[in-house]
Amino acid sequence: MKKALITGNRGQDGAYLSRLLLSKGYVVYGADRAGDSGLWRLRELGIEGQVKDVCLDILELSNIMDVMDRVHPDEVYNFAAQSFVQTSFEQPILTAEINGVGVARMLEAIRKTCPAARFFQASTAELFGRAGEKPLTEGIAFYPKSPYSVAKLYGHWITVNYREAYGLHASCGILFNHESPLRGEEFVTRKITSAAARIKKGLQEKVQVGNLDARRDWGFAEEYVEGIWRILQQPEAGDYVLATGETHSVREFIEAAFLAAGFKLEWSGRAEGEKGLDVMTGKALVEVSKEFYRQSEVDFLSGDASKAKAELGWVPKVKFAELVSIMVKADIKRLEVKR
Ligand code: NDP
Ligand code: GDP
Repeated sequence: MKKALITGNRGQDGAYLSRLLLSKGYVVYGADRAGDSGLWRLRELGIEGQVKDVCLDILELSNIMDVMDRVHPDEVYNFAAQSFVQTSFEQPILTAEINGVGVARMLEAIRKTCPAARFFQASTAELFGRAGEKPLTEGIAFYPKSPYSVAKLYGHWITVNYREAYGLHASCGILFNHESPLRGEEFVTRKITSAAARIKKGLQEKVQVGNLDARRDWGFAEEYVEGIWRILQQPEAGDYVLATGETHSVREFIEAAFLAAGFKLEWSGRAEGEKGLDVMTGKALVEVSKEFYRQSEVDFLSGDASKAKAELGWVPKVKFAELVSIMVKADIKRLEVKR
């Protein structure tokens, strides 16, 4: 039986990957910080208690070395991150320690204790930042635009460097945004689907958001962890873009989510005064607030995952409208079960 160790196991991707690996017969070690944040995800997936808990903070090298020495994993998936872009503007140093230097700590621990282990690093489409409005693929120059992505840039290159310098089987997935009912509510998709569900149930009046016109390539997380697993099964380590190739604006996401909850919206006003009105009642269900604008924005992301298709046979099937509908339905169902 193969042993996999997943850092950030109780986050969105960690939970889905745990379920996938358990179904493949792996022994899964969930390496998380102390506390029970995120346990709800494992519970929702019905795998609570099936993952072996190990206490690991990516800030602490000796802790990581001890864990690696004890577990001796065959595969290591590094999902641990301060993963919210907005928070990285408020906590740039901590973000660098976790998302950047943390990756070096992981690699150093592997090199010293279990160099045969395969390592996956969760890199991000945010690395491309200001690359422009074109399909983004491996080899296009990075131009990160937030402390989050600057830190992830270090994490990306240190992984490539350990592969080249020490021969570690270390790969990066350059992951475009991927969402699900397990996404944190600080991210715009889940914030919107959760609000649309609560408004439908009369538990909330409206939702405030920031930039409506940013465009993202949103896929379904459950399919992305399959791609991530396939990356580590390759005989040679390498870097792969995982993306759907479709791009939609935040505005389109809002329209689709509210429609899935039973509200048709029309837009009124401009810039910070813009509102999404319920066509039936004229009530403002969505408002724009400066509070949610970014200091420095990535306006456009759309990925080209041809390499993943050709080498991994990975092709995402869940398209935008289905993704939105899955998320809204799940949020409505949660509220109905709670009552
Ligand atoms: P989540 O935010 O859901 O999960 C991140 C996990 O990292 C949480 O479990 C968190 O634990 C843990 N973590 C944070 N700090 C530390 C630390 N110091 N030591 C150990 N663990 C820590 O992210 P996702 O599952 O969505 O993403 C997985 C990875 O993929 C992340 O690295 C993210 O940056 C990257 N990525 C994700 C994309 C997406 O669209 N989802 C796109 C591109 C990249 P806690 O609950 O204790 O804070
Ligand atoms: P990101 O792509 O990793 O930054 O994922 P997010 O879901 O946090 O943000 C996606 C895009 O939505 C960014 O361009 C944000 O500026 C935009 N956005 C607009 N309103 C909001 C909001 O209220 N919350 C968040 N998180 N993002 C918002």
